[in-house]
Amino acid sequence: MMQLAVDLHSHSGYAGGVGQIPLEAVAQTMHQKGIHVFGSGDCLLPARMQELQSALHQTAEGLFSLPRDDRYFLLQTEVIFSTRLPGYRNKTIAHHVVLFPHFAAVEAMQKLMQKWGMKNTIGRPFITSNSQKELEDQLWAIAAIDPAMEIIPAHVLTPDGIYGSKNNLSELTEFYGNFLPRIHAVETGLSADPAMLARIPDLAQLTFLSNSDCHSAALNRIGREFTILDTTAATYPTIIAAIRNNAVAMTAEFNPAEGRYFLTGHRANRPHHKHPLWFDQHPPEDLRCPVCHKPMLLGVKQRAQQLSDSSIIPHKRQFMHLIPLVEVIAHGLGIKSVTSQKVVALFQTLMSSFPSEIALWQHPRLADALPSGIPDTVIQCILAVQKNRFTFSPAGFDGTYGILHIG
Ligand SMILES: [Zn+2]
Ligand SMILES: [Zn+2]
Repeated sequence: MMQLAVDLHSHSGYAGGVGQIPLEAVAQTMHQKGIHVFGSGDCLLPARMQELQSALHQTAEGLFSLPRDDRYFLLQTEVIFSTRLPGYRNKTIAHHVVLFPHFAAVEAMQKLMQKWGMKNTIGRPFITSNSQKELEDQLWAIAAIDPAMEIIPAHVLTPDGIYGSKNNLSELTEFYGNFLPRIHAVETGLSADPAMLARIPDLAQLTFLSNSDCHSAALNRIGREFTILDTTAATYPTIIAAIRNNAVAMTAEFNPAEGRYFLTGHRANRPHHKHPLWFDQHPPEDLRCPVCHKPMLLGVKQRAQQLSDSSIIPHKRQFMHLIPLVEVIAHGLGIKSVTSQKVVALFQTLMSSFPSEIALWQHPRLADALPSGIPDTVIQCILAVQKNRFTFSPAGFDGTYGILHIG
């Protein structure tokens, strides 16, 4: 058995507004973080596919690497399925991660997009349909490209996720119909953790994956969420088998309370609001703000509670809440910028004592293993984060992030 750290959802420079992200920079950060396998991002886009095809070569079955490098890329894109479901006024829209076993499978999906008349000119393309039946046919056609194709609902509780408050679905079968048994895993997303999803009836039996969904090669983006799989080898088929058999050793998660829509509320700089207002429990049933009487967006926490069935006994899922190490260092120094020279220098000092950031977080006697020359305030923050002694208070709501307190 071996443990493989995977981060299977990212976006490339083609996603727009982020500039080029060299694959070399991605691989370098993977080394530092300890990520073995990384979702390529945007592989369906012809220009991105060509870039991947010319820069990478196959180094394990279904996995690709840069020359003289041992990090793996897995062919991955995000697509947005949108359809019309009976009983819903608005279109149902849900983001999905799609994993491909080889470049020929990517080309086959490009051909399907063409056949369906879908534009394939952006990193995260839309696949639209007018009925659940048509959507289901599209999903089956993609799955039929190769038995190893994997379609994974992305960041399920965000407004753009399958279970988000915009869609307001009560069961996954409304969307997937007969395709539902072909869904093996869901992505928790930055806004939720396994504890929040564990009692949602349709999810209770599925594999939970955590990915960074990053648009950058920065140290606080790649691997900000990740999954450790129990596998026998680093290959595409063993990764897919681990996903389908829930062979997850652990996931590393954002603390969901940091998220900007975790609670229901209104921030302070709205009309008629001198003070912010948020509900940790029980928001008004009509979601009208008691101060300004305008509607509030239902927070992710309460959306999860709404979907949960308290009689479900949750599966045991190993996970830890994590803050990227450069952010912990910056917090310990009282510095805002994680790219400041001081922060980067301390990160490098720390990395001289550990093979990777993941190895640091997993060290059983971390206090003894830290190198000398680290300021005490930073040491205290690192040890507190490893022991999950940090909170966001207040948590995020109405577009504002939660406020971090360590220790
Ligand atoms: Zn998305
Ligand atoms: Zn209000």
